[in-house]
Amino acid sequence: MTLFDQIQSDPFASDRQRMVEYQLRGRGIRDERVLDAMARVPRHEFVPERFHAQAYEDHPIPIGYGQTISQPYIVALMLEALALEPTDKVLEIGTGSGYQTALLAELAASVYSIERHAGLAQNAERVLAKLGYTNIVVLVGDGSEGLPQDAPFDAIIVSAAAPELPSTLVEQLRDGGRMVIPVGPAHAQELQLVQKQQGQLLVSYLEGCRFVPLITGQGYPSE
Ligand code: SAM
Repeated sequence: MTLFDQIQSDPFASDRQRMVEYQLRGRGIRDERVLDAMARVPRHEFVPERFHAQAYEDHPIPIGYGQTISQPYIVALMLEALALEPTDKVLEIGTGSGYQTALLAELAASVYSIERHAGLAQNAERVLAKLGYTNIVVLVGDGSEGLPQDAPFDAIIVSAAAPELPSTLVEQLRDGGRMVIPVGPAHAQELQLVQKQQGQLLVSYLEGCRFVPLITGQGYPSE
């Protein structure tokens, strides 16, 4: 398919390419698998229709239930830090719109994604099925408990802020696994990369960030 055909069939193809070049590559994202996936996945399909024109802009967008789809750069930063292999089994906490879930499905073998709002989970499932993804399971529940029956995971990505590192999720990471999670008080957090190596945790700090809170269990007590 030529670039002209692509633009004809997807009116957002050039917006998406600009997002990749200026917001992601321009800010230091270097992982070509992540950049390719973000150049492919139609982000506008995951936001309400009235926000389609803003889908590739450099900010979060409301998706209902008081929640947001994260800024593209933050999504790319988290995915790059996870260093996913095509054979990986991934756990995602906070499906939201399902956009990041689609990217995980492009980069890994299988994705289990947990969302506490049933309405968001249903919407995400609908869009993901429409786009043809078959390696994703979306579940409704409290993701701070993880998914012990399917653990251990090669990678865990948490898209809501936790006051501290949730030990339950750390336990569900396999040795050699990686977790990316925003940790800190409700108004501002630090994005952390947690690597489990021979039973030890190696924690590095990626960037300051502000996520919606991880609710209940090992997260914040209420919305
Ligand atoms: N990455 C998502 C996307 O691409 O649209 C955006 C995620 S949004 C920033 C955070 C999500 O985490 C919200 O949808 C919220 O309902 C969900 N969430 C918060 N606490 C949760 C919990 N304990 N279990 C599961 N989901 C939770």
